[in-house]
Amino acid sequence: MSAAAAARSILTQLHELMASRISAQGKLNQVVDIIGEALDSEVCSIYLLRDGMLELFATRGLNQGAVHVTKLGVGEGLTGTIAQNIETLNLAEATAHPEFQYRPETGEEKFHSFAGVPIVRRERAIGVLTVQHVEPRRYEDVEIEALQTVAMVLAELIHNAGLADGEDKGDAASSHTGQEVLDGLQLVKGLALGQAVFHQPRINIEQTVAEDVEAERQRVYLAFDKMREQIDTMAGQAEFGVGGEHEEVLQTYKMFAYDEGWSRRINEAIDSGLTAEAAIERVQQRTRMRMREIDDPLLADRMHDLEDLSNRLLRIVSGQLGTAASVGLRGDSILIAKNLGPAELLEYDRRRLKGVVLEEGSLTAHVVIVARAMGVPVLGRVRNARGLIREGDTLLLDGDFAKLTVRPSQGVLDAFEARFAINRKRQAAYAKLRDVEPFTRDGQRIQVMMNAGLRDDMPMLSLTGADGIGLFRTEFQFLVSATLPARDRQTRLYRDVLDIAGDKPVIFRTVDIGGDKQLPYLSSEISREDENPAMGWRALRLALEREGLLKAQARALLEASAGKTLNVMFPMVSEPWEFDAAKKVFDRQLAYLKRLKHSLPEAINYGVMLEVPSLAEMLDVLLPKISFISIGTNDLTQFLFAADRGNPRLAERYDWLSPAILRFLARVIQGTAGHRVDLGVCGEMGGRRLEALALIGLGIRRLSITPAAVGPIKELVRKVDTSEIGAAMKRWLASPPPDMRVALFDWAAEHEIEVD
Ligand code: PEP
Ligand code: MG
Repeated sequence: MSAAAAARSILTQLHELMASRISAQGKLNQVVDIIGEALDSEVCSIYLLRDGMLELFATRGLNQGAVHVTKLGVGEGLTGTIAQNIETLNLAEATAHPEFQYRPETGEEKFHSFAGVPIVRRERAIGVLTVQHVEPRRYEDVEIEALQTVAMVLAELIHNAGLADGEDKGDAASSHTGQEVLDGLQLVKGLALGQAVFHQPRINIEQTVAEDVEAERQRVYLAFDKMREQIDTMAGQAEFGVGGEHEEVLQTYKMFAYDEGWSRRINEAIDSGLTAEAAIERVQQRTRMRMREIDDPLLADRMHDLEDLSNRLLRIVSGQLGTAASVGLRGDSILIAKNLGPAELLEYDRRRLKGVVLEEGSLTAHVVIVARAMGVPVLGRVRNARGLIREGDTLLLDGDFAKLTVRPSQGVLDAFEARFAINRKRQAAYAKLRDVEPFTRDGQRIQVMMNAGLRDDMPMLSLTGADGIGLFRTEFQFLVSATLPARDRQTRLYRDVLDIAGDKPVIFRTVDIGGDKQLPYLSSEISREDENPAMGWRALRLALEREGLLKAQARALLEASAGKTLNVMFPMVSEPWEFDAAKKVFDRQLAYLKRLKHSLPEAINYGVMLEVPSLAEMLDVLLPKISFISIGTNDLTQFLFAADRGNPRLAERYDWLSPAILRFLARVIQGTAGHRVDLGVCGEMGGRRLEALALIGLGIRRLSITPAAVGPIKELVRKVDTSEIGAAMKRWLASPPPDMRVALFDWAAEHEIEVD
């Protein structure tokens, strides 16, 4: 009999049984009979996890007196080993296995051969299904396959009847895997505790047994079609390159998506009586088990891709397409994802989102900037996070030491609580600095401003005591909207922002869309055709061509600033004429408003971001036209080093404290000397203490940084003597030390300046 036929005959009987009205225990009693008979096995038993122990719930062939009496710990005996490792055992001679244990009440001494499969729900073993035989023989592959398929259906029955420990009763089930510590890359500092939530949730398989095999085949056929279409579209999009995906991965995806073997195995599983969802999962389980036996990191990576694809197929077939954001977070949560876009992150409830774990990610990716602004710690580059973490696991994210503790022990939680308390104390110290003006030891006033992008960010202005908003990223409103924000909505936001800021200045940056800030409603126009979106049709380049967009924004900004000072800044200016063109759009709108006798801003200051290196060569031409410059070190670094800011593989490669960048900045600072132009830095670099120290040493006197960094940077400023660090920087730039970061760090330690 084929595996499919064996399983089908059992499944048909189980299907009827599941629908019948007898008790759950009665059903299990019949299940062991059905399986025993179909596989011609003398013993068939079901153990279920109850209160953390595997309890014999039903048996055919063992002593009935052992039912509900025999209990094994997870990891104990053969049955416990199967549950612990979530693996299948197939033994001709059970007693020969090192984990074999004998339970006299069962009367199992006469049975030599033994096979068992885990009953798994949501990647946890909730029970074990075993068969035994007097004659020593290994069960055939078809029989094992049939058992595994049946175990899947049993998982549904057991879950529906509430017979085993549920997923929420994770302690018992998870104690067998215990605490695990994963390393990552620090993207946003901070500590967080919460339950693991997958950005793309695992699919709940509601029904495992098919009603109509042909209909299930058809569903899978259509889902494959759709998935292949998606992969092909992905291949046609330049931005597939963003976020570290590369040609090779894409090829693997394509190879799997079109793999005949994979679709054939799924169809065979459907033939055995499973629904499309259950069949996909069944095949995936089998692949997982096979792969686990092969210890090859390269294959593990491939496995990862296949998991990804298999989940995609499941989502399509089940119609469960939403992310965890659409369902909503239920408590303190730590989000797990391969990678995220900034808009996707913004969909989550800020009060419940405590941390983010990414398998990819890099320091200046916009999603990380958004998380930093939200005060949410992020750990990046956690390899195979989605494989090692299970939904609902307790996670302790330590952004300071770049570690993630999965299922932390009580001792670790206690230690964490102590660090949390220290953190709170630190925060309290920063809060005290709120109304203190940041002067250096030698009396230089450093402007410490904050970056913002949404109305929700604004309360941070008074909470941190920042000097103003040095960068208001207006595109964030566009990112969080389902449609292009109409002009009056823009006006309202800008007006609110200015009202909340009161006397403090706000620098509005016109939209910087494109690159890694894709808008779903404009994506067909933006960047799709760009090979490299960060260097493509983005920011001002796009705004100058889609003049309607810039015109509307200019009107909104001018109207919102009536009677006040408007500071407006253009992103990605590469040549001075681009500034002229952008300003002209504002001038025209201003003239129009004047004609209509609208009230106008009291003053307008224009400025640019310096983030494209070419502009540094044109300062003499540009500076007479503008009031201020803000150096955007995020983009500047990627362009100086030709290193994509979103590429996780390059995330650790180049240092902001490299002499190349610092020398470049020094030249820009020199180039502005003698001009009446305010110069500041608004990239992420300025929010890190060691980097801020270097910037102050170079002569920067205005920083605009993420809100959480305002306190720590103010504290730093008060300990610095600008002439001392200035002299050191001059020395180092003339003759760079082997490692600038180390040199700065040692210098800070010598001068008793805390930089961590
Ligand atoms: C920058 O590039 O440094 C910057 C501040 O702008 P954004 O991060 O929004 O590109
Ligand atoms: Mg930028």
